[in-house]
This record gives sequence, C-alpha cells and structure tokens, in this order.
Amino acid sequence: MPRIFSGIQPSGELHIGNYLGAVKNWVALQHEHESFFCIVNYHAITIPFAPEDLRRRTREMAVGLLASGLDSTKAAVFVQSDVPEHTELGWIFNTITPLGELERQVQFKEKSAKQEQVMAGILNYPVLQAADILLYLADTVPVGEDQVQHLELSRVIARNWNARFSPDAPYFPEPQPRLTPTRRIAGLDGQAKMSKSIGNTIGLLETPEQVWDKLRPAVTDPARQRKTDAGDPDKCPVIYQLHKAFSPPDTVAEVETKCRGAGWGCMDCKKALHANMMDELTPIRTRAEELMAKPAHVDELLADGARRARVVARGTIDTVRARMGLDAAQ
Ligand code: ATP
Ligand code: MG
Repeated sequence: MPRIFSGIQPSGELHIGNYLGAVKNWVALQHEHESFFCIVNYHAITIPFAPEDLRRRTREMAVGLLASGLDSTKAAVFVQSDVPEHTELGWIFNTITPLGELERQVQFKEKSAKQEQVMAGILNYPVLQAADILLYLADTVPVGEDQVQHLELSRVIARNWNARFSPDAPYFPEPQPRLTPTRRIAGLDGQAKMSKSIGNTIGLLETPEQVWDKLRPAVTDPARQRKTDAGDPDKCPVIYQLHKAFSPPDTVAEVETKCRGAGWGCMDCKKALHANMMDELTPIRTRAEELMAKPAHVDELLADGARRARVVARGTIDTVRARMGLDAAQ
C-alpha cells in the first residue's frame, strides 16, 4: 500500500493556497493510505522568527489542519521536532547530496535573495525535506507545484543512498508528488504564488468580513476598467482561479459568460465567489474555534501522533545505521 508523507511549515497562517494545493488532498488521501502529516518547525527556523511566535503558530497550524479534516485516528499528525530522527537522517543525507543540486533549487534562490546573510539551513532545507519523507519510506507526497523540484531532489538522494548502501534491493522508495488541479494558487497581488512568508494570503480561518476586505481590492483583468468593458477570465489571476476552486461548475460557466459579455461587474463576481468560499470555509472555522478552546486536547493529539511516527522513524534509522556501519557500539 502506498505510504503518504507531507509537511507544512508553521511560518505563518495556514492559507487557502496551502489548503487547495495540499491540505485538502491530505484529508482525502488519509482514508486510502497510511499517512503521516507533519508540522515542520525545523524548516520554519530557516527564516527569521521569534520563539514565542513559532510556538503559537505551531499550535495554530495543528488546529487549522485538524479543523480542515485531518483525522488523528487515521493519520499521524505531529510536530517535526518531537521526532528527532528527522534531523538524524537529515545529517546523514547531507553527506550524499551534491552541493550543486542544492544551489540550483529555485526556492533556495528566491528565499536566500531576501536574506542579508545566507545561512546554511536555507540551502540544506531540501535535504531535511528528503529525510522527512524517506524516514517513513513514503512513496507519495501530496504537495503544491512549488515543491516538485524539491521532490526531484528527494529522488536523487534516495537513489544515491540506495546505490551506495543498498545496491541489490533499493531500501528507500523514490517519492513522487501528488498534485491537485489547484496546484498553484496566486497571491492576492496577482504576482507571486500565495505564500505565508510573503503576506499575500487569505487565511483559511479568517472571518467572512476579513475575507471580503481582501477580495474587494484584489486585482482582476487589468483591461477591464469599467463594468461595461468586456473581460477575459483567463487574465484575471486571482478571482477566476478561486471560482474554479470554490464554486460549482455552473457558477464557473456563468462567470466565464458574464465576464466576457460584461453582464457582471467584477464586484458581482467577487460577491458570488465570497458566498461560495464561505460555504466551504465556515464549517472549518467553526471547528477551529472549538479546538482552539481545548489546547490540552490538541497537545495530546500531537503527542500521540509523534509517538506513532517515532515507531516507524526508529525502524528506518536502525536499518540506515546498520547498513552504514554506524552501529558499532550496539
Ligand atoms: P512559506 O512562504 O513559509 O514557504 P508556504 O505558504 O509556501 O510558506 P509551505 O509550508 O512551504 O507553505 O508549504 C505547505 C504546502 O502548501 C506545500 O505542499 C506547498 O506546495 C503548498 N503550497 C504552498 N503555497 C501554495 C500555493 N500558493 N498554491 C498551492 N499550493 C501551495
Ligand atoms: Mg513554501
């Protein structure tokens, strides 16, 4: 049976891009596969952060994931630093990862460009990510499009390790991405992808009023200056894409006709989108409020997830150590 791993950084608020590109898929897949979903706090410390914010965001991320429908009786939902085998395998993988592969990663280039002094952690990020996945021998990784290049590197790392230490029968699988139709949600600026660390997001748990305040000024087809101008939905980088993600097919068809025929103004279109978004997001927000009121319960679920994850992680590390001759004292 395929085994699933995926992670999310507590680097900011869970947003609708994370939800549509990854988390919604996790919720669906947890019923069919043995699944591990991890809040990757060791990854989140590769950009500037304050310890108290990190602690709060980690719990908020857990609440957001559980409220989205992750079921801790089905999937192991846990925090990365509660399973120290992640960093142990990460170090081991550093020793078989070519530096050139790391330097050409697009996310390294983008994120390091924003830092005054570039720390090694941001370069080695995909090595730890490979360890996160391969620790569970996961072969399927539901992610957004931006992670496809990192997964390609995970496969290189798996291959390198197998070639060296398990040449007859590969020990590590070569993990493949599992994408959704909404694999790259644009940020509200209509430029970059929606990202926690950029601040161009709509939070999954924001109130209807907060969401409307963000949709109202969002960019649309720039050629459409007045309501009477015909529009082109394909040039509307945010709103039309979100309609396709949240609205039923007949509404999407209506948007298409009424935009091109100037039957609707952009505000009409945004109002219809808002209503459909709220239909899907309101139950999630309600569940999150309930969970937020029970922090001890959330902590228990995370501790239980970490215990279950560690059983598998320990088994992998034991095998890796034995194959590499790192078990001399045992
Ligand atoms: P950061 O800006 O700190 O990197 P992020 O918003 O990119 O945060 P991650 O924690 O890096 O979020 O990624 C979590 C998951 O969400 C990954 O599977 C990633 O591919 C997916 N994801 C992130 N942004 C988007 C997006 N705009 N559209 C679709 N999927 C996305
Ligand atoms: Mg990211």
